Amino acid sequence: MSDISNRLTRLLSPNVLAMNAYRVADSSGMLKLDAMENPYTWDEAMTEDWLATLKSAQINRYPDPSAQGIKHRLLEKYSIRDGVDVMFGNGSDELIQLLIMAVMSSNKAVIAPSPSFVMYKVIADYLDVPFIDVPLHDDFSLDVESMVTCIHKEQPALIFLATPNNPTGTIYSDSDLTRIIEASDGLVVLDEAYTAFTDSDQLHWLSRYPHVLVMRTFSKVGLAGLRLGFMLGDEQCLHELDKLRLPYNINTLTQLSVEFALDNFSVLDEQAAQLVAQRAFLFEQLNQFDAFSCFESDANF
Ligand SMILES: *Cc1c(COP(=O)(O)O)cnc(C)c1O
Repeated sequence: MSDISNRLTRLLSPNVLAMNAYRVADSSGMLKLDAMENPYTWDEAMTEDWLATLKSAQINRYPDPSAQGIKHRLLEKYSIRDGVDVMFGNGSDELIQLLIMAVMSSNKAVIAPSPSFVMYKVIADYLDVPFIDVPLHDDFSLDVESMVTCIHKEQPALIFLATPNNPTGTIYSDSDLTRIIEASDGLVVLDEAYTAFTDSDQLHWLSRYPHVLVMRTFSKVGLAGLRLGFMLGDEQCLHELDKLRLPYNINTLTQLSVEFALDNFSVLDEQAAQLVAQRAFLFEQLNQFDAFSCFESDANF
């Protein structure tokens, strides 16, 4: 073994050495569907306005550490009540990492249904936090009995529920979510990455259950390149979690661009509505083939 392999074997955590890197395949020249991006762009005038706002960026200065400009717009957009706060991540991926880091020392598991978003398991694995997945029913609904049994047995520190779920496109019912939220003595994260494509909305849990966090992202609605995710939840809970956030995790260009996007959000809403209409068309067309079993989706895939 070379000197560097020896060093790495000696120094790095066995979990990291055993992992396969999360590889993003080269998609040049192809129609890229797997990352659930918004395919639409902005028209010339809007692009010019956006670039004009970037002219004020002071890139010699550190960014606003708490992204106040976006924060105020979001608190207003969602009519957030007292006692609930918002926290930002460099994509919701960073928030998932931060949540799992925060509970690492509890030696309690992270639970999620399967299949679901892969990063919950990838991050738990490299941080050496036990990860347990509970298979969904064949129709992609939650197996609540198995989830609740698992929760009672493991008392997980964290439960991740993506709704609509990636990769199934299904939303979970309020009655299923109530049972899981009430069974849990840890934190329950409702991941609404696909909120733009569904009428369902999980923000209502926040006023009733301080151990529920709602996570969203600007990635799927058309701003994947900016890397901005956010989490809404009890202010005391977020105050503790915020200690783990790197101070300048949201860069200046992202802050200005998202403020601009929030001021022009109707454009993104219209693009989402177009995707939802195309989703219905695709479903109808595919369903005409006997060879396919089609599942309704509340997401953009
Ligand atoms: C895409 C996705 C994310 C990650 O979003 P980023 O903000 O781009 O990191 C999180 N959760 C689910 C369910 C997703 O599909």
